Amino acid sequence: MMESLTAEGLVPSTALPARLAAHFSVPPSVCYQCKKCSAGCPLTFAMDLLPDTVIRLALLGQEESLLSCRTIWVCASCVTCTTRCPNGIDIAGVMDWLKEEALRRGVAVPQPEVATFHRYFLESIRKGGGRLSETALMQRYTLFQLRRRPDLKELVRQLKLGWELFRRRRLRLLGPPALKGRADIRAIFQKAGA
Ligand code: SF4
Ligand code: SF4
Repeated sequence: MMESLTAEGLVPSTALPARLAAHFSVPPSVCYQCKKCSAGCPLTFAMDLLPDTVIRLALLGQEESLLSCRTIWVCASCVTCTTRCPNGIDIAGVMDWLKEEALRRGVAVPQPEVATFHRYFLESIRKGGGRLSETALMQRYTLFQLRRRPDLKELVRQLKLGWELFRRRRLRLLGPPALKGRADIRAIFQKAGA
């Protein structure tokens, strides 16, 4: 559900807009609030802040509200908003940037399952030298969910899903073949501090 935002408590700060401007080739300050990003986003029903509001609050330097909101974790990185923005702002990239910033600062994540999936996914890519092992990711994530909430029915459902994917050759038991340039992948992860 959307929270109503009032002017009270919104004390503009320039620190966040400056960091975003330094990080992205198109600074979010060119946003003119047309809301095309939010109009195209398929996940607004589950968000507490609309994508255009995220950009607006980022320009006001409202780090606390942004780093603790549900929206950045609900965002599926489908890039519809980025594609639709007439000013070329990478809104999906801003969402990702905010996610990483929240993790770096140890902010409590409203959807821990999304943050855990995000971490396992990146770890799998790093260990796999640039390729994801879907089988290992599914096993690890299913165990994480079962530890949080033991549920036999859910375990059976996941096993059936895994079997279906395997039967349709969508899962490789031995992991993906190695990529060339693994050293480059390692260097990218090191540079990103991941
Ligand atoms: S589509 Fe771009 S310009 Fe329009 S509100 Fe969204 S971020 Fe701002
Ligand atoms: S990338 Fe995220 S914010 Fe943008 S349209 Fe997709 S789900 Fe919505």
